[in-house]
Amino acid sequence: MAEETNAPVAEPARKLNFLEEIIEADLASGKYKSILTRFPPEPNGYLHLGHAKSLCINFGLAMKYGGKTNLRYDDTNPTKEDVEYVDAIKEDIHWLGFQWEKELYASDYFDQLYEWAEMMIQRGQAYVDDQSLEEIRAGRGTISEPGKDSPYRNRSVEENLRLFREMRDGKYADGEKVLRAKIDMAHPNMMFRDPILYRIKHASHHRTGDKWCIYPMYDYTHGQCDSIENITHSICTMEFDVHRPLYDWFIETLGIFPSHQYEFARLNLTYTLMSKRKLLELVEKGYVSGWDDPRMPTLCGVRRRGYTPEAIKAFCEQIGVTKRDQLMDIGGLESCVRTDLNARANRYMAVTGDPIRIILTNWEKGRTEWFEAPLNPAFPDGPKRRIPFTGELLIDRADFMEDAPKKYFRLKPDGEVRLKYTYIVRCNKVIKDQDGKVTALECTYDPDTHPQSGQWRSVKGTIHWVSAEHARKFECRLYDRLFTEADMGGIPEDRDYKEFLNPESLVVTDGWAEPALMDDNSGIAVQFERVGYFVKDPDSTDGHLIMNKTVGLKDSFKLA
Ligand code: ATP
Ligand code: MG
Repeated sequence: MAEETNAPVAEPARKLNFLEEIIEADLASGKYKSILTRFPPEPNGYLHLGHAKSLCINFGLAMKYGGKTNLRYDDTNPTKEDVEYVDAIKEDIHWLGFQWEKELYASDYFDQLYEWAEMMIQRGQAYVDDQSLEEIRAGRGTISEPGKDSPYRNRSVEENLRLFREMRDGKYADGEKVLRAKIDMAHPNMMFRDPILYRIKHASHHRTGDKWCIYPMYDYTHGQCDSIENITHSICTMEFDVHRPLYDWFIETLGIFPSHQYEFARLNLTYTLMSKRKLLELVEKGYVSGWDDPRMPTLCGVRRRGYTPEAIKAFCEQIGVTKRDQLMDIGGLESCVRTDLNARANRYMAVTGDPIRIILTNWEKGRTEWFEAPLNPAFPDGPKRRIPFTGELLIDRADFMEDAPKKYFRLKPDGEVRLKYTYIVRCNKVIKDQDGKVTALECTYDPDTHPQSGQWRSVKGTIHWVSAEHARKFECRLYDRLFTEADMGGIPEDRDYKEFLNPESLVVTDGWAEPALMDDNSGIAVQFERVGYFVKDPDSTDGHLIMNKTVGLKDSFKLA
């Protein structure tokens, strides 16, 4: 059986990462019987490759240790959120191959969070502050100087309760009042200087509608949601490590299930960026065609580009989990895509750009000879495609050179080359147009070089080709990196990241493919032999095929 030759090689054991060490210790000590993680996206944009890393960690750990993962939308900011994003996020997680245990929303807990807020007021642990956000910010002090108490800090419990209920009931405008925890305005950790728990926002929420006009803040929400769900390991990115003490403080103060937070380094990739705010700007201002533009680092974008879930997961496994900032080479991801597609993609021949016509002067007019070739050379006895060969062929312009150096082994005047899977041809005459541009080559084929029935004779070069009569024309979208700068996180403050957009990130040309491509139903990208991997774009119609370039065969990127 062909599959047997492709059996997975046992993975070499790797060292546990720090999260695995923590979880193994927690399971060994009996702290938890099983683990529960969560993935907490804010539904204010589409998921990107950074989220893929977080998904692989959260779902990966749960799967490895027999636990489960909840999907919890962090939907506490009604003005930026949308059901479009909620749905897209689910689709992308499924596409990666992960299945969550429960689909939950921070907004499911608004009643509980509100009750806890009243409880804190009653215990003298929270108060309503009438200061503006600017005044509050100014009053917080600095790392070296303590903050100042708000003039409203010592309101009575009754007054606080009345005001907070009035806030809830819509009596005040946005920004007029907030609810703050009453902790310590001189606390060495600035996060503890009376953090805001609730703000007023008269906005409709995509789930709770107009029920609420006060919304809880991140710090007051996240840990409690984890705790309500009995999340054991709440895994987030490094920038939240300063929030951890406050996360623990709320859980202790409320006396609820002790979830714990652990931080890992965000994923950054060269030549792209992963801030949802900036990606949204690229979409809204039309720099890209949408969230799923194949140049975008979004999961829907790379999916349309032809990247596979397998490749993305292999990449995430390869880069591992650390606490150090990571700027990873996007070439590493491309290499994982190439490795996966090399094993699985069907092969076809296609010529792109501005081809040169080959005219075989010794070929019988009107004759078509059919050749067979495996769809994947790794399985020579596997499924095949049929390729028509005729007296008029198209080849890639790069496969011919008129004044060729000695070491040029593709086609040249008086030179020979093998047309892949078929005969050896000789170039006898170069035909040019008025401007001196080569348009066609008169060649002869050597009938004795048929790969199965001929005598074996070798030539140095083999090139791909298509039969002009049978070729299917398509629109070829050649994608390259979105930005010209490797470290997009490092561009100076006074420069706009959009100045670094790569003007050549999309080049559209024509292509001609062997007809068997039309019957491909593999559902993944195909390899155009000697060219690269391409995937059918969903905008294709019956009469108009569009192929997106996924990645080249080799790492050939060379932006200055
Ligand atoms: P952005 O800053 O782009 O809006 P975010 O962190 O606010 O991203 P969320 O929707 O809140 O996006 O993220 C959901 C989860 O994915 C969080 O746990 C977050 O830490 C994680 N995450 C987001 N970006 C990355 C990244 N680049 N690398 C690893 N994990 C990430
Ligand atoms: Mg966020």
